[in-house]
Amino acid sequence: MPTNEIEAINRKFMAKNFPDLTADTEFYHHCELINCPDAEKLRSFQEQLLFHPHFHSLKDRFVFNEENLAMIHILRSVPLKDIGELSEEQRRYYPICSKEEIQRISDAKNNADNLLHVRAFQVAKDPTLQRVMFRAMDYMGDKWNFTKYFNSPLFRRYVHYLKPDKQAVCKDVVAGFYHVKESNGSCVPTPFGNFIAISLYLKKFMYYMNLWEYGHNWGVAQEDCQAAMWLGIRTMMGSEPPDFELDPRSKLPKSIHQNLMGLVDLQLLFIIGHEYAHHYLGHLDGKTGGMAEMLKMLSGNVVPEHFKPQHQQELDADYHALINTRLGEGDLDKLTNAAFDFLLFMDIYETVRAYNDSTPEYRLEHPKPITRLYKLRERLPAGMGRPMADLEEVIARNQDIRDVLITHILGPQYEILEADGSVYLPGYHNAKLIDRLDF
Ligand SMILES: [Zn+2]
Repeated sequence: MPTNEIEAINRKFMAKNFPDLTADTEFYHHCELINCPDAEKLRSFQEQLLFHPHFHSLKDRFVFNEENLAMIHILRSVPLKDIGELSEEQRRYYPICSKEEIQRISDAKNNADNLLHVRAFQVAKDPTLQRVMFRAMDYMGDKWNFTKYFNSPLFRRYVHYLKPDKQAVCKDVVAGFYHVKESNGSCVPTPFGNFIAISLYLKKFMYYMNLWEYGHNWGVAQEDCQAAMWLGIRTMMGSEPPDFELDPRSKLPKSIHQNLMGLVDLQLLFIIGHEYAHHYLGHLDGKTGGMAEMLKMLSGNVVPEHFKPQHQQELDADYHALINTRLGEGDLDKLTNAAFDFLLFMDIYETVRAYNDSTPEYRLEHPKPITRLYKLRERLPAGMGRPMADLEEVIARNQDIRDVLITHILGPQYEILEADGSVYLPGYHNAKLIDRLDF
């Protein structure tokens, strides 16, 4: 359902069930609306609140309507006198975005403004992400800056790796992370040229998939590696709440965490390189669309037909991401293997994705990960990255896992992949926290 329709429904729901909040003349409330079809669930939450050690500071954040089985979680209340000049649409972004940033969102003059808009749009429509941002804001105090929250050195690092002629074409391209489910990266055509946006969920997906794949090398128990795979898949599906900063799923030893981050960064560099390749190979030339179309595409919804790169272009972007760097042999080998790892992880996820979606491969936005892997290996020089025989072993192992997934999980227990709540790593997790009360 389009976001503005959901908002219209939410506004109606608010006005009907919580007239006092809607009519408040002093404050604008950022709220999470919770429909509890189950009376027992609502009562149990009320009880947990009542007996919570921080009851006094928490109680005013919740408003209940028992009759209609609804509750509101007030995330932040902003004095209306502070935002009198902002429109209803602009208020959704404040104070996570500053007024200056909100002005830029409303009147984009370049792609940095467009990227800001995309980031803010994704946060404003997701109360969980809003909670993450409010927490980060409280932590940073006066130093809070929404744009800086997304800063990452990886984009510059990749451009630095590129050969000089490609570097010259890419160095001014705006690029960064944002939050979006079920997607990886996009090179987006706009009237200001292309910009690149890559999913932060993808980063989490890879973090846990690497733990699943390599954890045993660092002494991680089998059940933790297994849980990591669920976590990775659920994150990609959008079933896992995006509140990792509020409710850590695992407290891994520092050395393991660093190993994982090293692998994730390399895999992200490949994805970043893939998007830059779309840019300098001219795959999006002449494809500019409007803001609404762009937001739709970047929200993980349908990609407009004329934005879709051809499958051959996707395969070219994979190849060029690796072949156009000026990295030395050892580093290039690592980057190539990172690309293979990423595609092998996506191959596992593909089983789950395809279970509910029978779209034939030629209609998909990207060719299937396994096709990308074979084509990439085929085109790269033989000495670059793992040989085919090695990869075949992993592919065969993945096939066994995919069979188990299909026979034992997707059919009989699909709901565990979509179930509410979070997955934790049993060996690296202590206290279970209560959502909305403990974090
Ligand atoms: Zn692509």
